[in-house]
Amino acid sequence: MPQVTRRDFLKISAAGTGAAGLSALGFDLAHAAQIRQSFRIAGAREAHSVCPYCAVGCALVAYTKENTDGSVSLLQIEGNPDSPVNEGRLCPKGATAMQLATSARRVADPLYRAPGSDRWQKVSWDDMLNKLAQRVKEARDSTFVAKDATGNTVNRTEGIAFAGGAAFSSEEGYFATKVMRGLGLVHLEQQARV
Ligand code: SF4
Repeated sequence: MPQVTRRDFLKISAAGTGAAGLSALGFDLAHAAQIRQSFRIAGAREAHSVCPYCAVGCALVAYTKENTDGSVSLLQIEGNPDSPVNEGRLCPKGATAMQLATSARRVADPLYRAPGSDRWQKVSWDDMLNKLAQRVKEARDSTFVAKDATGNTVNRTEGIAFAGGAAFSSEEGYFATKVMRGLGLVHLEQQARV
């Protein structure tokens, strides 16, 4: 881009605005039009979601595109302008939502650190789910209360608590509550109050 002094700028501005003025300032309008035509998200599939970070529940739009080898690339995540909650805006934290999926530091496998160990080891999802089920059973069995101090039947599990998240859909929240209540949990908390 050519150097433009303040005097040049004022002269150009005085000579006129619009395309002629911009070209004189060194802006390549033809190139700008070309860029506009090759939008990164042109032809992308639009999927709607909710920011997982806090209880405000801002709506997101994710743009994905299928590659020639059949894989799918995530191109962009932004606020959904149709949402009455955030009207297209995202706070700085929500604006980093793309990194949840694309960050090189994302942990993609379950990691287990055995009691007393100083290191994490990669385990399979089956191993991790089995371990979780085993721990839930042990905690439930050892803390189950059939009757309270005054002899009332309560059948509750006091040794486990459950916390939901803002990204839960209504159906997920309903399902989680049913499962946890079925186990006898009384300590259920939910971050989202939207
Ligand atoms: S964008 Fe910010 S305010 Fe909105 S839900 Fe996410 S973290 Fe909360």
